Amino acid sequence: MRLSFHGADRTVTGSCHLVEAAGRRVLIDCGLIQGSGELHEENAAEFGFDPRTIDTVVVTHAHLDHCGRLPLLVKRGFRGEIAATAATRDLTRLVLLDAAHLQEEEARRRQSYARRRGRSEDGEPLYTLLDVFDTLDRFGRPLRYGKPLDLVPGIRATAFDAGHILGSASVLIEAEEAGGRRRVLFSGDIGNAGRPLLASPQVPDAADIVVMESTYGDRLHRPFDASVEEFYVAVADAFARGGNVIIPTFALERAQELLFVLRQGIEQSRLPPSMMVFLDSPMAIAATEIFRRHPECYSPAVAELFAHGRDPFGFSGLRFTRETGQSMAINRVSGGAIIMAGSGMCTGGRVRHHLRHNIWREEASVIFVGFAERGTLARRIIDGAREVELFGEPVAVRARIHTINGFSAHADQRELLNWRGRVGGVETTFLVHGEEAALTALAGALPGDHIEMPRLHETFPF
Ligand SMILES: [Zn+2]
Repeated sequence: MRLSFHGADRTVTGSCHLVEAAGRRVLIDCGLIQGSGELHEENAAEFGFDPRTIDTVVVTHAHLDHCGRLPLLVKRGFRGEIAATAATRDLTRLVLLDAAHLQEEEARRRQSYARRRGRSEDGEPLYTLLDVFDTLDRFGRPLRYGKPLDLVPGIRATAFDAGHILGSASVLIEAEEAGGRRRVLFSGDIGNAGRPLLASPQVPDAADIVVMESTYGDRLHRPFDASVEEFYVAVADAFARGGNVIIPTFALERAQELLFVLRQGIEQSRLPPSMMVFLDSPMAIAATEIFRRHPECYSPAVAELFAHGRDPFGFSGLRFTRETGQSMAINRVSGGAIIMAGSGMCTGGRVRHHLRHNIWREEASVIFVGFAERGTLARRIIDGAREVELFGEPVAVRARIHTINGFSAHADQRELLNWRGRVGGVETTFLVHGEEAALTALAGALPGDHIEMPRLHETFPF
């Protein structure tokens, strides 16, 4: 039996791990490599294995850095089954359709850039919409939390709720070969315990090998409750000044968590019951519809809301603005509304229009609740820029800028240690999905474990 590492090794994106046992090959995740620039060449490189020889892929969750190269895998000959929870399958559909669209646009941009410089460039996208449709056809039997699924003869998988995003799973692979039986636990991305929307991360009692993420292996988060409190105060403050609140929002999970937190704020009389909230992102709206279809994926309190026919993501002042015309009409609202729009880092999308209409107003507020990469507009605003460029024109920054850090969907060091500590019988822990500093810090904090920090394409017998 062998375990090989083909992505997210000493870095945080591009998750891809291969298990070989009983003459079969099972891939865990096939994610896109992401970063500040375009990473076409890195993503278009060889996988490190022949996609035609893979029997099954298990997808831990629908984030692009875990599922974003699936269409390329299919384009290069993978013909097996893709296994995932039902919610992951639905969200992956949305995420991959959007990704194909972006890949096609990016390819056109590359081509015209090369043409202007008199160079030739084939301009082929990593994959197209057609490849995504072929990929969606390969989703087979759903994984259910706690129910083993025979993937291929000799290898079975059991999903455990990872509490990271809707449908996210840690996956226990049990393999049998020549009378021997081994268990490998892949963490996927691990969420936080005690959050209101999703269940706390679950683990199996025991595993021989653990492959775990280390994104925040060197950091502790601000407590969630304190962050929610800070959020309510920032919103109330903007309303008191007569301004709007702009929230640059990631479409998947963060948008839905904020809707739930806003709903709670109204119920607890922390926020005005009639306040207008616009979810101005077609992608976030589509994701919210998927969230409503999966009542099996939540914390007990939210499951109870569903059981009573209540909508955890609805309240009277909430408006979904799918059409461009509806989005533009929001410009007429100069105060008293919350406007949630993408992109989360303000690199594109409708949020830039709302910033143009509000960021110069002293009474407005902009609240950042997610990660902002260096070089993005969000980063410049957070770092205190007095003026930003929007649609080719300089705009003064006079609005109040808030950065609220406790909304992360990733476990911090304490939660990672807690998660690992609940799995018994572990011989070796492989740390993946983290920058060098995070891996080293987490390795140091796991004193009893035999630890490996694999490099790209490294293979280990197990
Ligand atoms: Zn993730």
